[in-house]
Amino acid sequence: MNVYDSARMADVLAPYGYAPTDAPDSADLIILNTCHIREKATEKVFSELGRLRALKERRRAAGDGDMLIAVAGCVAQAEGEALAARAPYVDLVFGPQTYHELPDMLAAARRRSGPVLNTDFPTEVKFDALPEEAQPQGPSAFLAVQEGCDRFCTFCVVPYTRGAEYSRPAAPIAAEAERLVRAGAVEITLLGQNVNAWHGEGLDGRVWGLGRLIRRLAEIDGLARIRYTTSHPRDMDDDLIAAHRDVPQLMPFLHLPVQSGSDRILAAMNRKHTADAYRALVDRLRAARPDLALSSDFIVGFPDETDADFAATLRLVTEVGYAQAYSFKYSARPGTPAAALDDQVPEPVRAERLTALQQLLGEQQLAFNRSCAGRVLPVLIDRPGRRPGQMLGRSPYLQAVHLAAPPRLLGTIADVRIDAGHANSLAGTVVTGEAVTAPAGPATAERAPA
Ligand code: SAH
Ligand code: SF4
Repeated sequence: MNVYDSARMADVLAPYGYAPTDAPDSADLIILNTCHIREKATEKVFSELGRLRALKERRRAAGDGDMLIAVAGCVAQAEGEALAARAPYVDLVFGPQTYHELPDMLAAARRRSGPVLNTDFPTEVKFDALPEEAQPQGPSAFLAVQEGCDRFCTFCVVPYTRGAEYSRPAAPIAAEAERLVRAGAVEITLLGQNVNAWHGEGLDGRVWGLGRLIRRLAEIDGLARIRYTTSHPRDMDDDLIAAHRDVPQLMPFLHLPVQSGSDRILAAMNRKHTADAYRALVDRLRAARPDLALSSDFIVGFPDETDADFAATLRLVTEVGYAQAYSFKYSARPGTPAAALDDQVPEPVRAERLTALQQLLGEQQLAFNRSCAGRVLPVLIDRPGRRPGQMLGRSPYLQAVHLAAPPRLLGTIADVRIDAGHANSLAGTVVTGEAVTAPAGPATAERAPA
């Protein structure tokens, strides 16, 4: 979401003569778009700010004009005033819901010294105020359809930093998707903090769910692949599950965070489902789409998590089998209910559990990647690789695929024989033109138009 927001900030500033640069030394404006989800992410902001301050001072000392520094995103939202006090050389501090006001904020920052602070949740809708995309995103594009969250998991800052759950209407989403495809996107990932809770105004004026929206987007000519992230298990409704069966463009990969395998911890997290309910949901999804690969987020060391609770998480992982996953040590976040709980788990125990969980998840990921060797998979070639002649792509299961291919294949979906599966990627050879032995389902239907 932050990558998407950063691109939209560039869109807002493009008419004012700003363009993105890779050279921070000569930038007139540097925006740090920040994440508050865990303490580690927040700490990075302050170390980065120290570096930028030195850059700004060098620039001023050299008589080379002024460099404005802005802090955007969720750290700005959560710690705006403290941040402005701690880092007075910052010119602008604004949260995720006000970046459409960047031109006005910049003008105000030029008129005064000391931070301009804007952490409102404006009642007018940011998305309506944003201009159309100024720069193409490439073969694989992001599109925000939903923002904020009303679930209030007890460990999470999102409901406080991103605000209440909001769903964009289907019409501007469809229009943005069509523009992205015209600008070269073959794959679109629908974004939201709780994306499957999307319930926006449909094209017929009624409230639609995400399944219906996906069916509509699948009608767009040239849009070969659709994905969505991140989902809450409780918001996975029947129609969305059916879309995994019916819509060939919907890729067979789903990030469905469970956080823990212990019912006691799930209840304390306010996740509002049990481990068995999650298992049953996975069964239904796999019945709808047998080759669905799953990914998840896990938190270890939530307050009062016992060895038995953690063992339940390992058991769930073993039973479900993940193609990929993210796992984190619990991080107490200011203002969240869990941060006030007694029985915070000692750091060494958190570290030990994380190592054990990551060991198991790593084995599952490697086994899944290895199981792809010998298959022919449709791969969206979406960027040049690091070595000459090398390209990078994505399998339907979101695995990174290294392959040798001419640059003209960039932005196309090629049939690729997987030669090897490694810990974090696959290696393959383009075989487009040969007979394809892909699994039943979307493998052939999703080929991009030439
Ligand atoms: N909406 C998604 C999660 C968004 S936050 C969901 O409900 O699953 C992304 C991930 O960060 C979470 O899934 C969780 O695993 C992790 N996370 C969030 N807050 C955390 C915290 N306080 N400590 C550790 N990990 C956290
Ligand atoms: Fe945070 Fe996700 Fe829970 Fe919302 S559903 S509070 S974003 S973890």
